[in-house]
Amino acid sequence: MQSLDRTHEPELRSWVPNSEPGSDFPIQNLPFGRYRSRERATPRIAVAIGNFVLDLHDAAMGGAFGSTCADLIVASDGNLRHLMAAPRDTVRELRHALSVVLSEGHAKQGVLERCLVPTGSVEMLIPTRPPDYTDFFSSIHHARNAGEIRRPGNPLLPNFHHLPVAYHGRPSTVRCSGDSFERPWGQLLPQGEGAPVHSRTQWLDFECEVAVWVGQPNRWGQPIELADAEQHIFGLGLLNDWSARDLQMWETQPLGPFLSKNFLTTVSPWIVTLDALAPFRVRAAARAPGTPALLAYLEDEVDKRSGGIDLKLSVLLESSTMRQSGTGPEVLSEPNLRDQYWTIAQMVAHHTVNGCEMLAGDLLGTGTVSGPSPSELGCLLEMNKCGQVPIRLANGESRMWLEDGDRVILKGRCERDGFVPISFGESSAIVADAEARE
Ligand code: MN
Repeated sequence: MQSLDRTHEPELRSWVPNSEPGSDFPIQNLPFGRYRSRERATPRIAVAIGNFVLDLHDAAMGGAFGSTCADLIVASDGNLRHLMAAPRDTVRELRHALSVVLSEGHAKQGVLERCLVPTGSVEMLIPTRPPDYTDFFSSIHHARNAGEIRRPGNPLLPNFHHLPVAYHGRPSTVRCSGDSFERPWGQLLPQGEGAPVHSRTQWLDFECEVAVWVGQPNRWGQPIELADAEQHIFGLGLLNDWSARDLQMWETQPLGPFLSKNFLTTVSPWIVTLDALAPFRVRAAARAPGTPALLAYLEDEVDKRSGGIDLKLSVLLESSTMRQSGTGPEVLSEPNLRDQYWTIAQMVAHHTVNGCEMLAGDLLGTGTVSGPSPSELGCLLEMNKCGQVPIRLANGESRMWLEDGDRVILKGRCERDGFVPISFGESSAIVADAEARE
């Protein structure tokens, strides 16, 4: 667990315009990402501050940092994975250095002003192409709501209380926010029919999740202990695990998700470090009385006390009708990461208990984040009770599943009295009009 330090002080202000408290990227945030611009086609690593990106290579060459940080940035050569692989203490040193030089009144302001690029003029890239991707199933509310469909009255399988369930996803189709994609083709069994058909999915869904980006790797054969797990996490982002429910229902008998999930996973471009999230740590969600005891490798007092993160997520839907009429997107749901049943450290400890090697830049999805109330459901499957209850939208439209033209936007924000709020930016993609081309 990381304690609070001067980078979290609420009085701290930056000289960069539009970085005041209330903005997405104040000086207390400093998330890492990768961009390219019209003037500079090769990717560069950057931090977000106000409505600018600070080019870290230019800042390092301008003498903004000490040699450890400067060498690390220059050696990264636009590859964020290189920075992610560094020990957390080194990344923390860089965060501290950034906080100092971006603070009001710093002598380097003149040099660093030339390293800022307006966010609106750059293309944000995927933070890194993840070497591997695992998606968990760590919300008890999501597990209950989804399990109720297949096992009414008995939604949770016996292992749920004992380990964070997961499946191995496919890194090749993890892409950065901003895509347009057509509803995927696959095999599905129409209701009441005896044989499957080859069709575009009719039950396209989103899953609101948090992206956990692995930092310093472990060695093959050496499990990461729960107490050390956060030393191996670089930071968090937003993740949409797009899901074709009709394909999923038919193919996941008896194994896990396959083609119903691996056509696209969308992540946000900025990675908020665990250090930036220190003020927003909360107790891990309580386990109900009578819940079976955990095995020792999944239990740790510090993780119980501060393994949760108070991160309020928002899922917004913008239909083509909303775009045309200018009404703007509608909020469908507002789940919070603090309600997850398994902590991030528990996911890492379990993932490596068999000696599995985690690589820098690996991506872990938390699984759909859902809370206890109807306004905190992280996917349509839960909202529409598996295709039975359509969702009424404020503009008179309704939705069972996503339709062509729909854009789904995920957002995330941490707030706590006495601290400056920080945001995750957004992750979005749009379902293209497939029929128009057929
Ligand atoms: Mn998922």
